[in-house]
Amino acid sequence: MWQWLRTLFFPVRCIRCGLYDCGAICRNCLTQLPRFVPPLCSSCGTSKEFHYSVHCIAGSRQLNRVICVSPYAGNVRAAIQKLKYRRPGNLGETLGEFMVEYARSLGDVELPDVVVPVPLHPQRERKRGYNQAVILGAAVAAGLGAQLDTSALSRKRDTFPQWRLSRRQRGANVRGAFACGPSFSGAHVLLVDDIITTSATVNECASVLRRAGAKRVDAFALARDLVLDSEHIDRREQRHV
Ligand SMILES: [Zn+2]
Ligand SMILES: [Zn+2]
Repeated sequence: MWQWLRTLFFPVRCIRCGLYDCGAICRNCLTQLPRFVPPLCSSCGTSKEFHYSVHCIAGSRQLNRVICVSPYAGNVRAAIQKLKYRRPGNLGETLGEFMVEYARSLGDVELPDVVVPVPLHPQRERKRGYNQAVILGAAVAAGLGAQLDTSALSRKRDTFPQWRLSRRQRGANVRGAFACGPSFSGAHVLLVDDIITTSATVNECASVLRRAGAKRVDAFALARDLVLDSEHIDRREQRHV
């Protein structure tokens, strides 16, 4: 009822073309969002044209595979910003389905037993009212026919936003930040988040899940932030000139 009234009084426009009542992004615009095209690097999820080895330096021995749908730019960035700070209509569910379509289109994604969204600190989740990774994770779990587990992995302490930190600080920022409840003995876990900046957060989650018995951990994000990494490369190249 509330949802219906909200749609009536606050119609949701497509973030890309402005079309009304399409649930935050219309079908046509969704199909036009950019995505990484195979062949993909399994350590960082990017395709050749976006691939800088610096991503893979931060790659992980804890993660078997990293999959990212799009570069974090343009309409994908706009969609994630809306999802994080306003949650318009069913944007999260639509983007989750977009992730599922992408995973299926790759044709070589091993289906997980359980989907685990990257948790927010409880205080941050209370303030926001939801965790956007859970909304995406629920759609991914439903689409891939896997179980959804939103309670086993938790964030013990709040961390600084990763984008504010240097590469070295990012690892330290998330170290020991997560805890895992029941055993994931022998399970293939798929971690889901909205955006991967470096792999520090998903990497730390993966090591906690592995200690809880997971036999395989993959990470799946809607977007990969390349800006910080290319800045890093620029600095490195300047030093070499
Ligand atoms: Zn549109
Ligand atoms: Zn790579």
